Amino acid sequence: MTDKWGIIPRICALLAVLLLHGCYKPVNQPVIIYQPRPLPSALLTSYRIIGKSVQQRPIISTILGQGHDVIFIMATIHGNEPAGTTLLLRLAKYLQQNPQWLKTRTVVLLPIANPDGMAAGSRYNVRGVDLNRNFATANRLENQRSGITPLSEPEARIIEQLIRQYAPDRIVSIHQPLACIDYDGPARELASRLSEYCDLPVKKLGARPGSLGSYAGLTLHIPIITLELPPGAHRLDGQSLWDKYGPTLIAAVAYPESIN
Ligand SMILES: [Zn+2]
Repeated sequence: MTDKWGIIPRICALLAVLLLHGCYKPVNQPVIIYQPRPLPSALLTSYRIIGKSVQQRPIISTILGQGHDVIFIMATIHGNEPAGTTLLLRLAKYLQQNPQWLKTRTVVLLPIANPDGMAAGSRYNVRGVDLNRNFATANRLENQRSGITPLSEPEARIIEQLIRQYAPDRIVSIHQPLACIDYDGPARELASRLSEYCDLPVKKLGARPGSLGSYAGLTLHIPIITLELPPGAHRLDGQSLWDKYGPTLIAAVAYPESIN
């Protein structure tokens, strides 16, 4: 047994003195350089892995804000239409820097809905299914290209799950290359508002069998926009693409408020 003034109590006493004077920092303990202040709720952003593709690529959603008005915007359900992904990454950054749009809103972003198709430069998922024909709708076709059953594909199930979880007030799905603003469900006014902010005309393409437009717009009666960018949109650099179509996406978030 060590007596009262043995070596260990002496070392402890010395450390206590050094700590009090800030001269000693314990090894392996993180040094906190900056303590972030708590963020206002409008600035809350979370990144969530919500599932995996057929080839086990993570599918990630970004959630900004926590208001009652919910907007769901997704891109690249067709893997060879990647311009929307660039736009959504920019939109996330823009909203973080301009949180006034998030005060009463929740913005749910799905920048890459079909990561396997994107990696392969293919419209389809890796099983050759067109994910935008895989939803449970009255007009769905039963064939290999549409998937053998509704929601047979994990990527389509993730989109459906996000819609059920967040119950969005409006949806925008970004595609290429038809250069127009198409809509399904009660979205005519939203479509004309968006067309004020870009060079794309409103054009009704008709509900495609088993498409997200048919599912959200006709089955669930959620206003949904299919934003068809022009064919060369993905060849524009990020800034030019954002300058051209960023305001359209901000208008979709702000609707029915005007962004001017
Ligand atoms: Zn498409």
